[in-house]
Amino acid sequence: MATLDDTIALAEKHLARFRKKVVPHLIDGKPDIGSGETFETASPVDNAPIANVARGGAAEIDRAAKAAMKAFRTGWGHTPGDKRRAILHKIADAIVARADEIAYVECMDTGQPIRYMAKAALRGAENFRFYADRAPEANNGLSLPTETHLNYTIRQPIGPVGVITPWNTPFMLSTWKIAPALAAGCTVVHKPAEWSPLTAQLLAEICLDAGLPAGVLNVVHGFGEDAGKALTEHPDIKAIGFVGESATGSAIMRQGAATLKRVHFELGGKNPVIVFADADIDRALDACLFMIYSLNGERCTSSSRALVEASIYDEFAKRAAERVKKIKVGHPLDAATEIGPLIHPRHVEKVLSYVSIARQAGATVAVGGGRADGGKGKASGNFVEPTLYTHARNDMQIAQEEIFGPVLTMIPFADEQEAVALANDVRYGLAGYLWTGDVGRAHRMAQALDAGMIWVNSENVRHLPAPFGGVKSSGIGRDGGDYSFDFYMETKNIAIALDNHKIPKIGA
Ligand code: NAD
Repeated sequence: MATLDDTIALAEKHLARFRKKVVPHLIDGKPDIGSGETFETASPVDNAPIANVARGGAAEIDRAAKAAMKAFRTGWGHTPGDKRRAILHKIADAIVARADEIAYVECMDTGQPIRYMAKAALRGAENFRFYADRAPEANNGLSLPTETHLNYTIRQPIGPVGVITPWNTPFMLSTWKIAPALAAGCTVVHKPAEWSPLTAQLLAEICLDAGLPAGVLNVVHGFGEDAGKALTEHPDIKAIGFVGESATGSAIMRQGAATLKRVHFELGGKNPVIVFADADIDRALDACLFMIYSLNGERCTSSSRALVEASIYDEFAKRAAERVKKIKVGHPLDAATEIGPLIHPRHVEKVLSYVSIARQAGATVAVGGGRADGGKGKASGNFVEPTLYTHARNDMQIAQEEIFGPVLTMIPFADEQEAVALANDVRYGLAGYLWTGDVGRAHRMAQALDAGMIWVNSENVRHLPAPFGGVKSSGIGRDGGDYSFDFYMETKNIAIALDNHKIPKIGA
């Protein structure tokens, strides 16, 4: 069996190319280092730099948007669906062939554990396959006949779109946005997150090698306030698919107002997992812990608030604490690691700042609350202890704000009515998880919860045709299945007269 050192050496082989020269933008099918300005991306393992990355701004965005417009008008927007299908399947094949490389680079750039990233690369391939198969039918619409007219609708790609992604699981999330856009016939300018830009480069390379024409997918690296902002303001960019923080979503809406951008937002969450005494408690505990402590807790659909019925609260909290103490924090490339280092020292500061906030508010820090030893002492790397806050109230900051780390806040409730009230008393509404053996209550609660997605007696199990997205401050719009095409395409109605119907005359 490969040792951790073997795996690190293998990852290092894939990282070597990034260490050697500046990671470029990809504009109109060609690597482009723009103005020559760069920024560093560092590994969360030790905060040592991995690569210098080209830092784009308005000029690079303008070139990329123009390339995307040219590619849209002259080719991709008119490419038959079955040809788009074939290319997208080739991209999926290439992702599968390079899945290990993608996973290793992702782990070292984000700190996410290999046990999850290996699957995330493959899920990226599934996203391409799913939308590849839908490309030939994407423009199909409705037939809406009357006695005098045949009305029918078709869908046409909206044009070049901007995709702006966050740092938490960047490869998988990017494919989730880019695959449906390409399947719809749109061209794309992608602005990856500045804290984890590397796998965007791999995806762009894979797409080009698979035969995606130049200019159809462009990548511009850089910071939100310059490259990101310029993308949202560019007149050739017709829509922005954005995944990130709610506050950034508001900024993008303002920035895009002058050019009337269509926006699709997948934003933050403070998702409740509600556990009733009549639930299968063992399974509820497994799911609750998995949904907050996997992916470093840097997960928009994490079950960051556990609302537990008072009669089982103490026992549930005790059992959770025993498990959380045993979660293995370590190097992201170690197959045994369950939590890797968090993305950035600034994020560690944010996550740990809530410990004193929790204590001052009167919650109990039942487990964790400090830096963890990632194998080389507490000083190095962004390792934090998985943390459990118990005896919390829903009005505390630890229950209201998205911490986005391996941190669970546990709150008791008395009855169904109070569970709904507490669950809904936050600004977010992305996902809700419900554990009960009472089928009537499951339906009542599922309908009453303010969230775009509810899982009953389950953790987050995605089904690609199903809608994904949030309400309130968690987002606008839905991804998945045909919902993505509604965003990336315009619906056109065509009305054909069937007879010589009476046309009103004026001036006759
Ligand atoms: P962020 O909002 O800080 O950054 C996301 C992206 O937006 C980055 O590429 C950044 O450069 C860019 N950006 C920043 N300011 C911008 C501006 N003014 N104009 C244009 N672009 C700008 O988010 P983050 O910290 O990278 O990611 C974490 C957040 O993402 C969390 O809130 C998390 O819940 C959310 N998220 C949501 C989902 C979902 O599906 N709902 C999925 C994953 C992550």
